[in-house]
Amino acid sequence: MLIAGTLLLPDDRAGGSGVRLATGSVLARDGLIVAVREGVTADKPDLGGDDALILPGFIDAHVHLPQFDSIGADGMDLLQWLDRVIYPAEARWADPDFAGAMALRACRQLASFGTTGIAAYLTVHHEGSLAAARAVESFGLRSILGQTLTDREAPQELTRPPLQLLAETEAFLDSFRGNPRIQGAVTPRFALACTPELLAGAGALARRKGAAVQTHLAETEAECRRVEELFNGTPYTDIYERAGLLGERTILGHGIWLDAVQRATLARTRSVIAHCPTANTFLRAGSMDRAALRRDGVRLALGSDVAGGPDRSMVRVARAMIETAKARGDTPPTAADCWRQITTGNADALGWADTGRIAPRAWADLIVAAPDVPWRDAPDPLACLLYAWDDRWITATLPAGKIVHQSA
Ligand SMILES: [Zn+2]
Repeated sequence: MLIAGTLLLPDDRAGGSGVRLATGSVLARDGLIVAVREGVTADKPDLGGDDALILPGFIDAHVHLPQFDSIGADGMDLLQWLDRVIYPAEARWADPDFAGAMALRACRQLASFGTTGIAAYLTVHHEGSLAAARAVESFGLRSILGQTLTDREAPQELTRPPLQLLAETEAFLDSFRGNPRIQGAVTPRFALACTPELLAGAGALARRKGAAVQTHLAETEAECRRVEELFNGTPYTDIYERAGLLGERTILGHGIWLDAVQRATLARTRSVIAHCPTANTFLRAGSMDRAALRRDGVRLALGSDVAGGPDRSMVRVARAMIETAKARGDTPPTAADCWRQITTGNADALGWADTGRIAPRAWADLIVAAPDVPWRDAPDPLACLLYAWDDRWITATLPAGKIVHQSA
């Protein structure tokens, strides 16, 4: 398949902005990019054309598939919102058929917004999580997926004994060993809903299996106070470190209420904070100090955190990253930083060197778009595209070279 247009390419040159735009074409075969050529192609493309914009598919580093029907439940803080809205929604995944169908719906929505890669939480239900992961696998998104682990401080129907959860997680991890597009992750929901025994077992399992870890860290002050009570004042980050849960394959959602010592722990362990600015605003959790985390050397990713975050579009989430920095009075990321973050940046943070970029041998995870604004003439075309972005521009989304979403 030949796809032509203006390509968004990684720009790793010294002094480069992280991404650059160039006329060119992409040749994809068997799900992979086999060649990237710059310049006008003489061959008739199968997709795209002179006016088309070809982007790497977006990557969402923190999202909850069982929460896609719960967007917009406003007026509560995190812990109320979990109790009143999210736990009842997740309880529905006790039915694996419902879970599978809902995961497929979520995938279709994500693709319509240009997302081709996700790090996602499922629910505590083993069969429901397996059914959902099978749906993601059949749809074709690149993914890190985890059965969510909770053994306390949640409704009884959403808690399980730790040993059961660890055995189920191991089976879940093993279920997707053969598919290079899917990886299981050890996914304790957050320290508040996990006993020390469960966290320690999760850390040991992740190390033994070399698996990714997903969890939440320091999203709201009320959550931090409850965690302090439950763990006798141990700093939140230290709880995870003592359980063996930190490392370069660990993705921690939020990381708002952290002091310099905890930031240093995250930097030393090469753990990744998934910044979720739209969710932080929606739940009034606070605002992440991106400048301090960057200054202290903490690796960062960006996530929608649906449904804490109401926006499914990673472009919108990237704009919120700028808005959050501006509201704090910090130097905001540039438009180029945003495009880099939601493509190559998030891929690198998730350990994926083979997606999130238009490059030979990467997966053909691509978006074809038809912008209706004169972005080429703008003073900063990348900023024009970011701020004028309209999801209706997306004419095709292709995870692994397969068109799963198409519009005229
Ligand atoms: Zn979350």
